[in-house]
Amino acid sequence: MSTTGVTTLQNVVGGQLVDATTGVFEDVIDPSTEEVIARAPVGGAEDVTRAVDAASAAGREWGRTTPAERQTALLAIADLLDEHLDELGETEARDAGKPRGASRDEIALCSDHLRFFAGAARNLEGKAAGEYAEGYTSFVRREPLGVVGQITPWNYPLAMAIWKIGPALAAGNTIVLKPSELTPLTTVRLAELAAQVLPAGVFNVITGHGRPVGEGIVTNPAVRLVSLTGSVGTGKAIARAAADTLARTHLELGGKAPVVVLDDADIDAVVEGIKVGAFYNAGQDCTAACRVIATAGVYDRLLEALVPAVESIRLGEPFGGAGGVDPDDVELGPVISAAQREKVLGFVDRADAAGARVLTGGSAAGERGWFVQPTIVADPAQDSEIVQREVFGPVVSVQRAADEAQAIEWANDSVYGLASSVWTRDVGSALRATRDLNFGCVWVNDHLPYLSEMPHGGFGESGYGKDLSMYSLEEYTRVKHVMANLS
Ligand code: NAD
Repeated sequence: MSTTGVTTLQNVVGGQLVDATTGVFEDVIDPSTEEVIARAPVGGAEDVTRAVDAASAAGREWGRTTPAERQTALLAIADLLDEHLDELGETEARDAGKPRGASRDEIALCSDHLRFFAGAARNLEGKAAGEYAEGYTSFVRREPLGVVGQITPWNYPLAMAIWKIGPALAAGNTIVLKPSELTPLTTVRLAELAAQVLPAGVFNVITGHGRPVGEGIVTNPAVRLVSLTGSVGTGKAIARAAADTLARTHLELGGKAPVVVLDDADIDAVVEGIKVGAFYNAGQDCTAACRVIATAGVYDRLLEALVPAVESIRLGEPFGGAGGVDPDDVELGPVISAAQREKVLGFVDRADAAGARVLTGGSAAGERGWFVQPTIVADPAQDSEIVQREVFGPVVSVQRAADEAQAIEWANDSVYGLASSVWTRDVGSALRATRDLNFGCVWVNDHLPYLSEMPHGGFGESGYGKDLSMYSLEEYTRVKHVMANLS
């Protein structure tokens, strides 16, 4: 593996770039080329303690800033993101193996999220009514929680950090954030840029692993909320660990989004929706359109159109490899690691062995990098693992349901409850589905888009709490009742 152009990262603690106390580093690998692109500090328990101490000290001032001051800071960070859009987009594309256009689009949305929370900072309200007696008054204060811990995954490294720091800062909290050990680059850069705007210690980043860094954040008694975007197993471990300090937890976990296609659906729109919704970010998306359930009258027509559409997806290296697709035309990059590729292909092989039909894909691709061909698996059983478990790769299952009622029943037969979509031209069917689908988001005739103003979060084992929107801002506050005797 080449090690040319390798950057050495540092943590950001108390507004300073610092080495980890462990003195240990690990390689960060580009999943498209398998080349080492950076060395990241492997943080230890002492690094977490220092970061939490820095955040606690900073909170004494930052927690008393006015909403207008926090708005100004968030707008300034958003401007910095825009100024560094090319750099951040390229770094993310290398670190996470994303097509460059998609990476750029993700970063561009990040500044919109921060601008939303800049405005939201001035719109926090406390809902209450009541008077104790003549001569008294009551009001509600929305206060920051203090130090919050934030732990992010590798699939959208910068975007997930932004979803978390936006509301936390808007509400006046200070932060210790741990990015995924697989993709730390843009988060460290974000903290470096934000240090130009925020007082020292308000936003700290420690790189490293779930243990001891993530665990150290969760168990530190000064941390009053832990927000995780990650897998169900990690969510449960964090909820258990947080019980000792009674810190709040906010868990955005896995998903297995059903795509319910009814007889009267517009096939062209469905195919385009699946092509984008299932294969964006190589299917490594908690809301990916990975579980298609089509009713009997549309099933054959759908597969006939879907298979060639999926086969037309252009797979390649974001920065162009020898003899590869032009980087500007790349639609599908690699999955994040060799282990992830093994995991994804294992699901397909076992589905095949269990009698499902692999209509296209199902193999590794590319001469280097961790690529998986875009894959369609038809007719898996409802209780099979490829239907019930998160694959997190460019793989779509397609099932034939007898009718609308069975399609909705199968869609809801999942431990996950994050996102879903229904495709139909009938208003009644669409509205019934929005009522009956047991998911935190239901799209009608679309799949995947989201916006700063609307809540993102799941039901069931997809976790609890909301990202984005005023709902997430409220989670980063505590409600205090003040009653005054006016006499
Ligand atoms: P993961 O759970 O393996 O890791 C997530 C983060 O948690 C990482 O930073 C990791 O180091 C840390 N961690 C691991 N063990 C820990 C512990 N015991 N204590 C504290 N921190 C710990 O998840 P991943 O593989 O990085 O990401 C993929 C998962 O994230 C998928 O399940 C996906 O569905 C989910 N995800 C959910 C959403 C959402 O909004 N619901 C969005 C993106 C990804």
